[in-house]
Amino acid sequence: MKILKQLFTLIFSVLLLISCKELPKQNHSKTLAINTDSSIDVTVNNTKTNTKSPYVKFKNINIGDCVWTDGFWADKFKVAEEVMVPNMGTLLKGDVGHALNNFKIAAGLKKGKHKGMNWHDGDFYKWMEASMYVYAINKDKKILKELDELITIIGKAQLENGFLQTQIQLKKIKPFSERRFHEMYNSGHLYIAAITHHKITGKRNFLDIAMKHANNLYEVFQPQPKDKMRFGFNQVQIMGLVELYRTTKDKRYLELAEIFINMRGKSKPKPHPSVRYRMVGDMTQERKPLRKSDEAVGHAVLALYYYAGATDVYAETGEKALIDALDKIWGNIVNQKMFVTGACGQKHDGGSSNRDFVHEAFTIDYEMHNAHAYNETCANICNAMFNYRMLSVKGEAKYADVMELVLYNSALSGISLEGKDYFYTNPLRRTFDHKMGITDYANRVPYISCFCCPPNLVRTIVKSSAWAYSLTKNGIVVNLYGGNKLDTKLIDNSNIKLRQETQYPWDGNIKITIDECKSEVFDVLLRIPDWASTYSVSVNGKAQKITAKSGTYVTINRQWKKGDIITLKLPMDVKLLEGNPKIEEVRNQTAIKRGPIVYCLETPDLPKNTNILDTYFSINTPIKPVFKSDVLGGVTTLETTVKVRKDKKKGMYRELKDVAWEDVETQFVPYFSWSNRGNAEMTVWMPVIWE
Ligand SMILES: [Zn+2]
Repeated sequence: MKILKQLFTLIFSVLLLISCKELPKQNHSKTLAINTDSSIDVTVNNTKTNTKSPYVKFKNINIGDCVWTDGFWADKFKVAEEVMVPNMGTLLKGDVGHALNNFKIAAGLKKGKHKGMNWHDGDFYKWMEASMYVYAINKDKKILKELDELITIIGKAQLENGFLQTQIQLKKIKPFSERRFHEMYNSGHLYIAAITHHKITGKRNFLDIAMKHANNLYEVFQPQPKDKMRFGFNQVQIMGLVELYRTTKDKRYLELAEIFINMRGKSKPKPHPSVRYRMVGDMTQERKPLRKSDEAVGHAVLALYYYAGATDVYAETGEKALIDALDKIWGNIVNQKMFVTGACGQKHDGGSSNRDFVHEAFTIDYEMHNAHAYNETCANICNAMFNYRMLSVKGEAKYADVMELVLYNSALSGISLEGKDYFYTNPLRRTFDHKMGITDYANRVPYISCFCCPPNLVRTIVKSSAWAYSLTKNGIVVNLYGGNKLDTKLIDNSNIKLRQETQYPWDGNIKITIDECKSEVFDVLLRIPDWASTYSVSVNGKAQKITAKSGTYVTINRQWKKGDIITLKLPMDVKLLEGNPKIEEVRNQTAIKRGPIVYCLETPDLPKNTNILDTYFSINTPIKPVFKSDVLGGVTTLETTVKVRKDKKKGMYRELKDVAWEDVETQFVPYFSWSNRGNAEMTVWMPVIWE
């Protein structure tokens, strides 16, 4: 009986696979009729799509298997569920964001013109993805119903051949004629949102649209036409195509993902009919093939999505040249180009080490301006995404350290505590004296016409619990700390349930209770962050003799049973950091960090009319961490005293003479929480007085 059932499933799978490969020839309304929940070789209700990826050491858990229950991330998820996602939906479905209107017009359901940026479709898909993650946790059927309605509209907007780009269709632009129209960005986000929808709901309606679309892309780019040799700008499609391959097992998608990596870096850095002036050379990672690169270059969002996609390709192919290059690029980012907050994108406009013009970009090593740092929220998130992928293929804690650094600092700074206002750039100092760029704001704003960052951030917040754990061959890995419940299966399909209880990041005590597990021996890996100078681990109250260094995973291998308790203690010391002396912009300055949280000084915590540029930090001043439930939504502030210089000298250069100082009692607040108390100046780095 079992054999018959398997045979039937196999025949049905083959038939369905054949019908799927015919999708490009079908009208979308017909493809919707293909509705299966488990037969096709598509991983239904299973988000662990890299489980079978041969070069992945740390496998994903299913989205929804880990739920934040209490504390920092549970609070953030609640705001996301109740405010961020619904509020953003109202914007994007209405006449402010206009994204849904574009789909409706393209679908013939509404009259009008395309409005918004060329990448608006992609931003709408990101918001849909965020809704899906919320559904994965709260199972609110209203979300699902709305998503189905939206997917129907999107399906109607799709052309017969699978092409779907409202900016191209409504403006009557020739498809794939110029890469600045962001077709690849929109495509990638379509694939990722559609796969996520399929994985979480088991439905195929969105996935069918994505496959039909990707099949069209395959037909256009394979064989690769000469006039499109340099196509692709923001290459989200690479990640999307690899996910599509993992989900459908159709090798064409992986082949296409690799083609897009191979295309880059072959061209001379000069304009081309499909390429805009200045968007060439290092700006678009075109000077060198990726496999020969050793430096992060160009537009930071473009670069990091590209590197993240290439890591996904490596996870499937295991190509040494690819991972060797990614290793070097990662090292260059972390050791020469990343801000102390985990942010990326040193300048709005600048030059690369090859003297190419670069925009919103990585520039030269150690060029780290505080007030003029660009640090687009998207780039910071992409940095975490790149690191999450490197963590998967390498299994090393240093990548999770960067993910955590970004999440708590340069990602969260992109949104207000209330969850409705956004920053596009995330500099490390803001003063009323520095001229702000066009995408810099004195305070966060409720809508940004270039709306890429907000949905990117919101989807990251709501999916963060899926990053908290990974799976190894015979165990579970704890990447992120926070009050949560995990209910998942190990790679061998055995159940594991556990609970984390902690007030991290304000407190370093973490308690993990095993609620269910197999009887055989398995590993529990705990990340010891690189900032933890000491730590202790005990199991059921018994201290474990562990010699692992900070910045690695501690492995506890034993026979676990229900009720076992692991206790991890991390020191939450306040640390005064300094930059590498090669960073001109922070010489003789310090930044304050406690655990994973980077702090800043903000003018609401200083006497009225104090200029942030007049504040200095005396190196021996005591600092007292105090948790304040009534400040900035409940944060640990650092109470201390700063020195404020009182002599207001004018002029570009002044004589260095005696300076009048005033001691001012104040508090440092987490960087992510700044600009939630009205117009403010802020600084992360402060000049040091060595006494
Ligand atoms: Zn952005």
